[in-house]
Amino acid sequence: MSDIKCIDFKRIVLAIIISTYEQEISMAFSESMLLPSMGIVYQLPDFDGTVKVKPFTTKAYKDLLTGNASEQALTQFVETCLVDCPIKAKNMNQQDILAILFKIRAMTLGNNLKTQVTCPRCNTVTTIDWDLNAVDVNYLQVEKYPIPIVLPSGKEIKLRFPTGADTIKAKAAAEKRASMFKKDPSEFTNLYTIVSLLDVDNMDIIEKADWYENISPKDAVYINEAFKQMDDVFGVKMTQDMQCSSCDRYYTTHIDIWADFFRPDSSVSLGITSKAGNLSGITKLPDISE
Ligand SMILES: [Zn+2]
Repeated sequence: MSDIKCIDFKRIVLAIIISTYEQEISMAFSESMLLPSMGIVYQLPDFDGTVKVKPFTTKAYKDLLTGNASEQALTQFVETCLVDCPIKAKNMNQQDILAILFKIRAMTLGNNLKTQVTCPRCNTVTTIDWDLNAVDVNYLQVEKYPIPIVLPSGKEIKLRFPTGADTIKAKAAAEKRASMFKKDPSEFTNLYTIVSLLDVDNMDIIEKADWYENISPKDAVYINEAFKQMDDVFGVKMTQDMQCSSCDRYYTTHIDIWADFFRPDSSVSLGITSKAGNLSGITKLPDISE
């Protein structure tokens, strides 16, 4: 073996050793989880809905605070915790995002979450301990996807659950139409949100909006009812039923995903104390000559 070839060979072996080592490090700190959507909503051929996530970093938490824990900031926060994921966080379904947020919270800070809830009748404050690993999750099960439905008029269309990609598409279409008619985009958001989730004869989103606005009211109501049935079918259960210890009232409370949810909770004791007083209380400076 010539010298040059020998050096190349050593380099390759070293590169393999390093890459294996790096892989082991990232494996050690990541965990697999099954998304509530089971990956079905993304319609990727080889994706079984399992993703790998790792704990969040101090920088990611700071960025979350800077972004006021907005939807966009939370999405970016999730993105930093995904390991080799075929889907970008911004393209994910909201319920999948929530499940990941629960998982990375538990991985990074522990699965215990203390929150205070207030009785809506008597204002009694109760502290509850959520066990984030024990929170109920519903996983999506469908016979066929996208879900085929036959409208009262006899037309067959298909319905999908929203992904982040659908939301982005709907928003862009609503903004385009609003600027054309010099109106507020919110006037069209609802329309484009609905049609972004319909599969009709390979139409694009603009054609679907046109189609939807011209169907019979009966068909439109049918589509809306079908979507209602798809509400809350899968995802993390964010609520807990409570009974007030003071007035016995039943109420429902839910976990708030806000910056506090990710705040590291720690108590440090350095054994330092100080005594309160005021300046006039000091009558004499300590004599250092003695
Ligand atoms: Zn009460």
